[in-house]
Amino acid sequence: MNVNRHERDAYLHAMGIDVWVPRRPVDSLAAGPPRATVIELGRQTAPIAPVPPAAEVPLLDWDALKSQVAACTLCGLHATRTQTVFGVGSRTADWLFIGEAPGAEEDRQGEPFVGRAGQLLNNMLLAIGLRREQVYIANVLKCRPPKNRDPRPEEAQACEPYLKRQIDLLRPKVIVALGRIAAQNLLKTDTPIGKMRGRTYVYADTSIPLLVTYHPAYLLRSPAEKRKAWEDLMLAQKVVTAG
Ligand code: SF4
Repeated sequence: MNVNRHERDAYLHAMGIDVWVPRRPVDSLAAGPPRATVIELGRQTAPIAPVPPAAEVPLLDWDALKSQVAACTLCGLHATRTQTVFGVGSRTADWLFIGEAPGAEEDRQGEPFVGRAGQLLNNMLLAIGLRREQVYIANVLKCRPPKNRDPRPEEAQACEPYLKRQIDLLRPKVIVALGRIAAQNLLKTDTPIGKMRGRTYVYADTSIPLLVTYHPAYLLRSPAEKRKAWEDLMLAQKVVTAG
C-alpha cells in the first residue's frame, strides 16, 4: 500500500502527534506496491488436532502450528480461555509486532490487538505507511491471563516454543516488542522499558533485529509518550530499509 504524505499526516494527527519533517525522506513511503499478503484470520476454525510432543513444534508449518496452539493445554491458562489467540497478518511480513497476551476483547474475538489499543496500533502502522494486513502481530502468550494479570514465568516458558516457531517461519526483517512485558520476555531481562527503547537488539540466537517501544494501551493512558513511540517506529523503519 502507498500512504501519501497527506494521509500520513492525518494518521499522525489521529495519534496526537504534531506533524514534523524528517531530516531524510522515509523511503518506504515512496516504495512500490507491497508484497503479496496472506491474511491470517484470528478465529480458531481449524479442527482440534492431537497435541504432538513439544519437540515437534520447531518442525510444524503455519497451519499445523495454529492447530497445535488451538489444542494446547501446556499451562493453566487453557482452562479459562474462550479461545487461543494465535496471531494475525501477513505470513510474508517484514515487520513482526509482539505484545504481551490477549485481553478480554482479544480472547472474545480470537485476534490480537483489537479494541482501542488495536486501533491506536493500526494508526501507528499507517503513520509509517503500513496497513495492519501487511505486518504480523502476535503475543508472548496465546491465552488470556485471568483479569489481565501479568504472565507468569512458567506460562511464558510453556508458550515460548510457539512464538519461536512463528518467528522462524516468518523470518521478519524486524521485531518490535510492544511494552515492558513483551520486551522483558523476548530479551530475557528485567531492565525497565525506558532503558530498552532507542536501541537495536538481536532476538535470541537469530540475527533478527529487535526494537522495543511502548504498548499502545500504555500510550492511551500516557499520550505524551506517543512521540517516543513514533521515534521508535522510525528507528525500526530504518532497520527494515537497511535490511
Ligand atoms: Fe498453551 Fe500458551 Fe495457552 Fe499456555 S498460554 S495453554 S502454553 S497456548
